[in-house]
Amino acid sequence: MKTILFGLDGATYTVLDHMVAQGVMPNFQKFREESTSCRLRSTPLPITPQAWTTLATGRSAGNHGMHDFLRYEPTQDGVYFRVNDYRTIAVETIWQYVSDQGKRVTVLNFFGTAPPPKINGHVMPGFVPPKHLRRSSHPSDLFAKLQHVDGFDVNVLGLDTNIEKMGLQKLDPDQWVEWIDLHIRREKAWYGILDHLMRTEPSDLTAIVFDGVDKIQHLAYRYLDPSTIPGNPLDWEKKVIERCKVYFKQIDDFLGAVVKRAGKWARMFIASDHGFTVTTEIVYVNKFLADHGYLTWRGEVAEDAKEAVFVDKLPNLVSAIDLKKTKAFAMTPSCNGIYINRQHLSEAEANQVRDELIEKLYKLKGPDGGLVVTEIKKREDWWPGPYTERAPDLTLTLRDHGLISILNGKAQVVPREEPAGTHHPHGVLLGRGPGIVEGQELEVRDIIEVPQLLLHSLGLEIPGDYEGSFPANFYEPEYLASDPPRKTHGAVAATASAAAGDDANLDEDEEAAIMERLRGLGYLE
Ligand SMILES: [Zn+2]
Repeated sequence: MKTILFGLDGATYTVLDHMVAQGVMPNFQKFREESTSCRLRSTPLPITPQAWTTLATGRSAGNHGMHDFLRYEPTQDGVYFRVNDYRTIAVETIWQYVSDQGKRVTVLNFFGTAPPPKINGHVMPGFVPPKHLRRSSHPSDLFAKLQHVDGFDVNVLGLDTNIEKMGLQKLDPDQWVEWIDLHIRREKAWYGILDHLMRTEPSDLTAIVFDGVDKIQHLAYRYLDPSTIPGNPLDWEKKVIERCKVYFKQIDDFLGAVVKRAGKWARMFIASDHGFTVTTEIVYVNKFLADHGYLTWRGEVAEDAKEAVFVDKLPNLVSAIDLKKTKAFAMTPSCNGIYINRQHLSEAEANQVRDELIEKLYKLKGPDGGLVVTEIKKREDWWPGPYTERAPDLTLTLRDHGLISILNGKAQVVPREEPAGTHHPHGVLLGRGPGIVEGQELEVRDIIEVPQLLLHSLGLEIPGDYEGSFPANFYEPEYLASDPPRKTHGAVAATASAAAGDDANLDEDEEAAIMERLRGLGYLE
């Protein structure tokens, strides 16, 4: 059966329900009434690359290899980072698998789909600079065909360094509306492509991500969550609240139109890669490590005076840490983790440092005296598989789900001046269509199970090495008895890199553009 995945990056019921209550999202409200819905547990590190890749492979990151935006590579002379892309994914994606089964697939705006897999269908990736969007699209004439579509604007669709340089958390109040409007235009451009392809060359599996939900929540979460919306907003805040509603209203219009186009005889799933919540403090992990004697700064390193200060360039941070005199360090906030400096320690020393850190981190207190670290994940426990080492040694969950700061701070834990948005492990999943129970609310399912729903819906076998189980409770039991999920024996072996294009590595422009975006989102804070 034709199947649609309507991806909303970072969508959370807290905000969606608020929008419904305000009358902004009637189509979402109707969709929910007609669907089975639940919270969707994200990957153990709830961030975009890992979570969408797990959704697209049915595998955990220890097996698919896409842990983070960046890949940390220690060498004898220092530390390198590479930006992950489609070739990072070590197992077959559903895009490739569904195509190999003779069906057509459309994949739009997913992180890490460049260079594009040569599938039967269409790929236009997200996170690609405008000047490379043409060559990153598949088939090679797709870009040319789409240029006449209403709203098509390569500078809006692509990852424009100049726009990303606006740097979200440095935005002046009078720039907020402009930033939100940019994402309104951006989603319109992506929707134009989706609508055009659904009308002219419909696929069996159509998947799109609208990523503005994540961007806008990073910036404006305190105006979206009823628990943090100011009682008496200032004039500029009123405008921001209004433009956010316009953004969500537009998403709702798109949803309504796609449901209509899909008709009765299609199944449609709405999923997010993670949820969102509010963060109220900053944890300076490298400051913690330095105070405890595990990290040595090279000379005087300025303390982060204001939470809006960013690392200008990652190499600056790398060179700010004296790695020869350092046993443990944090390098990127997006992985929320601590690396043990294994280049300079024996195995036994490294393990000892790790045990000590776990003990000390669980005792770390905030200014209010409360414990700050709620969970510490060892990489071998949470990311078993051939790519365990792409995870940092320890991954922290903080009490407010915030990302760590990698800068030096005036204290180990500092309250934020204003609450900000941060990823929450629980996102959303809703499914609607033949056989799916209407109006049912389930507790929670796991993101790793979503591709099983998609493949079953398409009438395909589920590869035997997919992790997690089929969410049978989405379906009427009688329906499922007549159309049970079928699993293949053993794995499907093809690798993504074998199927991907033959482009060389990302060039410097692309790397720079992606770094800018990460900085804009606060991931290089
Ligand atoms: Zn995301």
